Amino acid sequence: MKKGKVYLIGAGPGDYKLLTLKALECLQKADVIVYDRLANSEYLKQGKAGCEYIDAGKASSNHTLPQDEINEVIARKAAEGKIVARLKGGDPYVFGRGGEEGEYLYERGIDFEVVPGVTSAIGGLCYAGIPITHRDAASSFHVITGHLKDENDELDWDVLGKLKGTLVFLMGVANLNKIATKLMAAGKSKDTPVALISWATCYNQSVVTGNLEEIYEIALREGVKPPTLIVVGDVVRYREKLNFFENRPLFGKRIMVTRARTQSSQLVSRIQDEGGRAIELPTISIKENEDQTVLKSAIAQIDTYNYIVFTSQNAVEIFFKNLLESGKDLRALGNVKVAAIGAITEKVLREKGILADIVPEKAVAESLYTSLEKMLRKEDKVLLPQATNARDFLRDSLDKICELTYATVYETVMDTQTSINGLEEVKSLEERRTELVALLENKEVDYITFTSASTATYFMEILGCENLLKLEGVKLISIGEITSAKMRELGMNVYKQSPEAKIESVLETISND
Ligand code: SAH
Repeated sequence: MKKGKVYLIGAGPGDYKLLTLKALECLQKADVIVYDRLANSEYLKQGKAGCEYIDAGKASSNHTLPQDEINEVIARKAAEGKIVARLKGGDPYVFGRGGEEGEYLYERGIDFEVVPGVTSAIGGLCYAGIPITHRDAASSFHVITGHLKDENDELDWDVLGKLKGTLVFLMGVANLNKIATKLMAAGKSKDTPVALISWATCYNQSVVTGNLEEIYEIALREGVKPPTLIVVGDVVRYREKLNFFENRPLFGKRIMVTRARTQSSQLVSRIQDEGGRAIELPTISIKENEDQTVLKSAIAQIDTYNYIVFTSQNAVEIFFKNLLESGKDLRALGNVKVAAIGAITEKVLREKGILADIVPEKAVAESLYTSLEKMLRKEDKVLLPQATNARDFLRDSLDKICELTYATVYETVMDTQTSINGLEEVKSLEERRTELVALLENKEVDYITFTSASTATYFMEILGCENLLKLEGVKLISIGEITSAKMRELGMNVYKQSPEAKIESVLETISND
């Protein structure tokens, strides 16, 4: 039997990209992933096909799985010969009970490794603009539990009160009053700066600051809740200068992405990098047509063609796939001119080794036609691979002025999957509608981005016309004219249209808002 192994993995403090390469590798090879509430659930999508997921959801008061059961389950799965990734928030050994899990495995002779993670105690402060040490302010730091069992807790307050270094309390919000009082009683000045950092490194990070004397009042007023870090010390003052995270252009904005899941990653990653929260609701997926006879026979005599017109990235991908399959490569296109609509289409062509000859200024079919009309002769052979449900305009107008081969190569269909906790599942339309309506009703969405007319069409199909009013208060952003027109036709209110039909421009429109 294959030998099992457990990896106790630190998942970092929340920001998706604060995971180590080693942790990622372990997640990708695991047969079972056991995860905590504090670990970013997006990591779960790194699991391989068929991976088993177990939610150990250790919320501080409502344990889904008690610690001994977690120990038992990870040991048992490894004993069955499986690779177990035990994913824990922050670092496994910083108040993470990783030590206990390791001991349990050691006692049972089960192979394990520990992968350190960025602890919230350090990384969380960093994202709040607070350096945990600073030559001018603190020459040590102390990470302390704020989870105090009773009056006679184990902390030596007299010592803590005298420390000059930065004090970081984890699990301490419920005892904030006591922590502040005890520190002042032990000699800490009431003017010592304090920061409370909630959901550090996440899109919803929030920070309140004050001094030791007033911080409890402030926390009550602001309704501070766990998970929160309590930072006591002069280093808090540097936040004014070092707060890079909250100053990013999309910080705090919750943006829904409706494009096909195969195409959304770039947009999602950009949103996250600029500080926003991306909510993925893929509305469409691309289905390649089974019958590619028209395309294939055009490719067979591609040297007789004068132009190929690409109106989407999908058309490019499918064309090149078929080109290679028919035993040809780029050299077969030596005499053909290439036209492309849209920056992405142009970029994908470039990646294939083709610099498009004709790219209209505006990424719409009408604009491309205006350029082509001037150069096309009646006898020119033009290949137009497009979606079955693309608009007729380009086909109909080209057909009149040249010898057109129109190949329908794919179809945009409604996406039927959904992504919950990073796990993709096939859902019924009803289920998807319920989830979308709940997000809107709970006011969890600030912007919805529409990057094509079909995303708008299928979004409305998922939402249902009867729920149109639920979009009130949500800002709907369109990528360009055609999309906006479709949105209006569907009864949606276009809040803003991005000046250029590009992802960058859509994001800029949101960050300028
Ligand atoms: N092993 C974790 C800590 C687990 S104890 C680590 O290294 O970060 C849980 C406590 O950690 C919470 O009560 C809170 O005080 C702190 N914490 C963890 N992640 C946090 C986050 N993203 N924002 C604020 N506090 C966090």
